[in-house]
Amino acid sequence: MYALPVLQTRSSPEAAVQRPRSVRLSLTDRCDLACIYCRPHRHDGYLDERLDLEAWQTMVRGLVTAGVRRVRLTGGEPLLHRDVVPVVRFLDTLGLDDVAVTTNATRLEKLAKPLRDAGLRRVNISLDSLDAGRFARMTRGGRLDVVLRGVDAALAAGFDEIKLNAVIVEDENDAELEDLVQWSWARGIVPRLLEVMAIGEGANLKDRVVTANEMRARLAHLLTSGEAEREKDRGPARYLLARHDATKKVGFITGTSDTYCKGCDRLRVASDGMLRPCLATNDGLSAASMARDGDANAVANAVADAWTMKPDGESFKGCTESSAADVSMRGIGG
Ligand code: SAM
Repeated sequence: MYALPVLQTRSSPEAAVQRPRSVRLSLTDRCDLACIYCRPHRHDGYLDERLDLEAWQTMVRGLVTAGVRRVRLTGGEPLLHRDVVPVVRFLDTLGLDDVAVTTNATRLEKLAKPLRDAGLRRVNISLDSLDAGRFARMTRGGRLDVVLRGVDAALAAGFDEIKLNAVIVEDENDAELEDLVQWSWARGIVPRLLEVMAIGEGANLKDRVVTANEMRARLAHLLTSGEAEREKDRGPARYLLARHDATKKVGFITGTSDTYCKGCDRLRVASDGMLRPCLATNDGLSAASMARDGDANAVANAVADAWTMKPDGESFKGCTESSAADVSMRGIGG
């Protein structure tokens, strides 16, 4: 078992954003895949304790009291959590601005419709390769056919938006850049191409990063030129439109060549109830006991305390800092 350490301060005196507006809940740190840039193998240990449904409800109430307006369920693999549908149903009652899930889609064939019916609006699907052999290699044993059936189920369920997240690794899947984009566009899915970040196992792939600029150059024949634009309240991705169809676009997420920490309004909650103000450090504090006690106000106070620990985003350069290598993406909620 690994344990996430509790409290060290590397904070700026004043966080740039006054309070968190968006949160990622690592519903579970368990995952059925072991992507080469995320974890070393499938048996690298899980957290000892996890919040149950009731505690998650209190946690979310506290987060909303503290100002959070957008919630994304992630992990680990959030669809492995037995209560993922009730959690979404609960979130749907809160009048939030956004409720979304990031998933590897291995369980989406079964869960897409129940999740949609429970109020889920948007889904991000992580899929790095359309080649079954390469997919199995990059995920250490994942089955592409299962994931593709999950994608079809998501399309049939009628979500407001489906995005594809593909982490691009040099000499692994970089030859698939155009295929991933065209495949997504053909299905009304928004493709997003991610640089490998030096977080967790990604720290061992520093010499195989394909930068967003390189990806963009390779896709130049498909895309408009000019400045890639961020979408308001939609995270760090920057988008370029398709050259021949303004309804299509490609997103680039540059956690390595250009960190996007300034103005970050994101908090993460690990599956054991640890509040994590930054993806690139293990700093944080636990709100587990408050959540288990049903005390949403105490959770809200803990959120405010955790937020004072948020690095300033100017002197601290996010996932390019050495502390990122020690972070478990599964544990913190990638
Ligand atoms: N299991 C879910 C999934 O696969 O989407 C959610 C958790 S996963 C940690 C969330 C996202 O983080 C995925 O899109 C994954 O590809 C990405 N990710 C994990 N480690 C990364 C790294 N070192 N660099 C860039 N992206 C990474």
